[in-house]
Amino acid sequence: DPAAYDLIVVGSGFFGLTVAERVAEGLGKRVLVLERRNHIGGNAYSEAEPETGIEIHRYGAHLFHTSNERVWEYVNRFTSFTNYQHRVFARVGEQVYAFPMNLALINQFFGKAHSPDQARELIAEQSAEVATGTAANLEEKAISLVGRPLYEAFVKGYTAKQWQTDPQNLDASIITRLPVRYTYDNRYFNDTHEGLPVDGYTAWLERMADHENIDVVLETDFFAVREQLPDDVPVVYTGPLDRYFDHAEGELGWRTLDFEMSVEPTGDFQGTSVINYNDADVPFTRILEFRHMHPERDYPKDKTVIVREYSRSAEAGDEPYYPVNTPDNRAKLERYRELARKETANRNVLFGGRLGTYKYLDMHMAIGSALTMYENRIVPHLTEGKPLSGTDAED
Ligand code: FAD
Ligand code: UDP
Repeated sequence: DPAAYDLIVVGSGFFGLTVAERVAEGLGKRVLVLERRNHIGGNAYSEAEPETGIEIHRYGAHLFHTSNERVWEYVNRFTSFTNYQHRVFARVGEQVYAFPMNLALINQFFGKAHSPDQARELIAEQSAEVATGTAANLEEKAISLVGRPLYEAFVKGYTAKQWQTDPQNLDASIITRLPVRYTYDNRYFNDTHEGLPVDGYTAWLERMADHENIDVVLETDFFAVREQLPDDVPVVYTGPLDRYFDHAEGELGWRTLDFEMSVEPTGDFQGTSVINYNDADVPFTRILEFRHMHPERDYPKDKTVIVREYSRSAEAGDEPYYPVNTPDNRAKLERYRELARKETANRNVLFGGRLGTYKYLDMHMAIGSALTMYENRIVPHLTEGKPLSGTDAED
């Protein structure tokens, strides 16, 4: 009986499960979670590859990291973490470089041993053509940070494959995710906390959903059952924002990925978890080798699982993975956000998560934003009857 619920959550990714868990455990209220796929967990879902038992992330490599103490405390209620530290390597031509850009990469690329000061001086000369403050798009931003030679080798081809959008038409912020370091430190993330869930992502996600006040219904698309749902129960929607409004303001652009998985007859295919292929003429963007994410596990020594990742523009029916940050999409997003505000005020529907806000949210950001929505909007609504529409501070 749908009327018996205090809240309906659409989508069982980290955003939806965090809201559901908090309402169930924190408020003792009943939650119905609807999930379109045949499993919970959204894009963080993982499973054992049957032939090798190696844990693979079905929707792309997921590395957990955060500097948010509130999120760290929260996630540790459901899982402990290994001490895995992510490192990425980049293949250009016949060379493999320690990524992100750091002193080892700079020295190898320019064939010379630079001290940190010498490397700074070199990159300052090479990047002088664009002043950082004036960079208006991804290409200018990247050149202002690393100079043209490194841009052309490590960024241009990879970005073209990843986005199939002219880097001059992409937002500068995309590239500020990539640090440049004048040390030999090649850790990918700078956060205080990092690690992988000891028993895997799915065990973690299942513990969040495992509550007597939470019912999860799989293989159920919200839009197919909407008519049967009571309209006085508030909804937290974490599906694609444009789909909720029947694409009334046009389609928001999404990137999707194709994953080509294979089991290879060796205990070690590439010696590390991720190698980016930065050259434009290699069709895939990277190769993942999942066994290296859990060196502490007892995996077979004669087989390994690899995944080649290809990126392309999402068509109808594809999984939407990455919002595309172009001026056109940003303008549409503003119009959708206006519609969303009205929907919250008129029909008690809240929008959250990566798809529901069309934002590049990492897992810790999705969880953090769900905790904020819970505290600022859902608790006051469910306990004191306050309107769900509040400030947009957490969006
Ligand atoms: P999702 O996980 O997308 O969950 C949304 C859920 O809603 C899905 O299960 C979907 O099936 C369901 N749904 C949608 N529409 C409907 C509907 N109409 N009815 C019912 N259900 C519906 N983050 C990191 O921190 N580290 C990483 O290394 C990392 N790597 C990533 C790599 C890739 C390739 C991708 C795509 C993402 C990566 N992320 C990473 C981000 C991470 O996946 C997200 O932060 C997280 O999944 C967001 O959770 P969410 O609940 O917002 O969305
Ligand atoms: N990027 C790049 N070269 C690389 C890796 C990343 O130019 O070898 C750029 C690219 O534009 C990418 C952005 O940096 O979209 C962010 O990279 P990140 O690895 O954070 O992307 P994700 O892991 O989310 O795909």
